[in-house]
Amino acid sequence: MAAATSARLTVLSGPSGVGKGTVVAAVRQRHPDVWVSVSVTTRRPRVGEVDGVHYHFVEDAEFDRLIATDGLLEWAEYAGNRYGTPVAPVAAQLATGRPALLEIELQGARQVRARAQEAQLVFLAPPSWGELVSRLAGRGSEPAAVQERRLAIAQAELVSSGEFDVVVVNDDVARAADELVGLLTAPSPSLCPG
Ligand code: 5GP
Repeated sequence: MAAATSARLTVLSGPSGVGKGTVVAAVRQRHPDVWVSVSVTTRRPRVGEVDGVHYHFVEDAEFDRLIATDGLLEWAEYAGNRYGTPVAPVAAQLATGRPALLEIELQGARQVRARAQEAQLVFLAPPSWGELVSRLAGRGSEPAAVQERRLAIAQAELVSSGEFDVVVVNDDVARAADELVGLLTAPSPSLCPG
């Protein structure tokens, strides 16, 4: 993406179960002025999710069309569904000179890094491995094999924190949300003299 302005593109990512969605919901609630990208997804809406607010819910054919027309900044397949960031709204937001926040999984974060080197990548980490295990286990009545697979993925995902610019620990949702908002408006290190 063209770096037309110095406004920051910030990506929040991290292992599944760490609470990315919860932290972004807290950001929206506490700082309604923060602009958060609305992704497209082929997943079906969950109860309470509103089309155009939580996601743009689309059919496979529409997702294919968006890929083919270069309409996505990044996209990934996750747990059998596809998710992507529409590029035009992000570019329009950055062109206003104000920051943009994406909440996406790790494959997407890597694509953003490859495409927009100036982007700030923030890794949301659990306070401890034990905490992540109990959060994933507490997600419902999944078979043990599925839970173990999730844990194996989460362990691999935790290792990738080294690829990120900043690590925010989700020890307290409101605190993590405020720290994230502070990062959105922090000056780019590359712009700092010395
Ligand atoms: P969920 O189905 O629980 O809403 O989201 C599943 C995963 O997809 C989460 O890790 C979420 O961060 C990620 N996700 C949501 N939107 C996007 C997107 O536009 N791109 C990518 N790569 N991941 C996304």
